[in-house]
Amino acid sequence: MFKREELIPSAEEILERLPLPAPLKAVKAERDRLAAEVIRGETDKLLLIVGPCSAHESKPVLDYVERLGKLNERVKEKIVLVPRIYTNKPRTKGVGYKGMFTQPDPRCREDILKGILTIRQLHIDAIGASGLSAADEMLYPENYAYVEDLLTYIAIGARSSENQMHRLVASGIELPVGIKNPMSGSIPVLLNSIYAAQSGGQVFKYQNWQVRTTGNELAHAVLRGAVDGYGNDIPNFHYETVMKVIEGYSKTGLKHPAIVIDANHSNSGKQFKQQIRIVEEVLGNRLYDKDFKQYVKGFMIESFIEEGNQKEDVVYGKSITDPCLGWADTERLVLDIAEKV
Ligand code: PEP
Ligand code: MN
Repeated sequence: MFKREELIPSAEEILERLPLPAPLKAVKAERDRLAAEVIRGETDKLLLIVGPCSAHESKPVLDYVERLGKLNERVKEKIVLVPRIYTNKPRTKGVGYKGMFTQPDPRCREDILKGILTIRQLHIDAIGASGLSAADEMLYPENYAYVEDLLTYIAIGARSSENQMHRLVASGIELPVGIKNPMSGSIPVLLNSIYAAQSGGQVFKYQNWQVRTTGNELAHAVLRGAVDGYGNDIPNFHYETVMKVIEGYSKTGLKHPAIVIDANHSNSGKQFKQQIRIVEEVLGNRLYDKDFKQYVKGFMIESFIEEGNQKEDVVYGKSITDPCLGWADTERLVLDIAEKV
């Protein structure tokens, strides 16, 4: 049974209660334009989604994105920087910390209304502090409406890419939606997901409405590595694997084919420092092969102020989910990417 704990206001009510101020709306519109330009292949810039695995506390995230905002000034001719502000976390075993949306303070009990208001305020303040609008994971598709006016990039996680509702909602979004390969690593499943998200005319129930979507031609692939039947990580960022994905992708007729390489997760085996080597290898392959370069349009990097991770929120600016690169390494890596694009 479900024990009703609290009635949650509709997305419309919440957006009215905590709107995005007009000057920040203009910033977000410009960031949306820049990110879409990369996916459409209208620029040689790379898309870089970078930030902590999860945003568990506002203060260090704002501190972090302010640094990204300054770094952006040095790399903006080469890179479109999108901070990762992930407020919903999928859990491998289904239990545990599920992100700021559910638990705005990881030390206190769940409070979803407070969570929604906290993440809206965080995304708004982050745009103000950095001049950049963020990426978040759409873990629960119906909750996308609570942040739809704030994000520039939407991720569909590996555990969600086969899900009908994720695909349907993605088909109504007019922003880049990065769909991860499923945990199994199946590329046909990933391409089917992109096909579904790009397909318009889909009718379903969303936010108490029957809706019909237009299709999202900015839906694209994110390669995060896979896990085999015995629990071993199998990377999929290497040249031969990516070329196979490109071969499959090119046969589908999908619009604006694009691949983002997720440098952490099963690509690094969560050996977070390996993200540097992985990005370097992929950058080298972009220089080596023009098809590879044309398809691989960005990276996803897990990074925070302090490197590594911790079980509980003790150290300021350190991940409580996946291990991350620290700030000094991140800054060096981003500057290096800008040089090699
Ligand atoms: C993540 O990006 O932190 C994440 C949970 O990714 P995945 O869905 O690839 O496991
Ligand atoms: Mn992660």
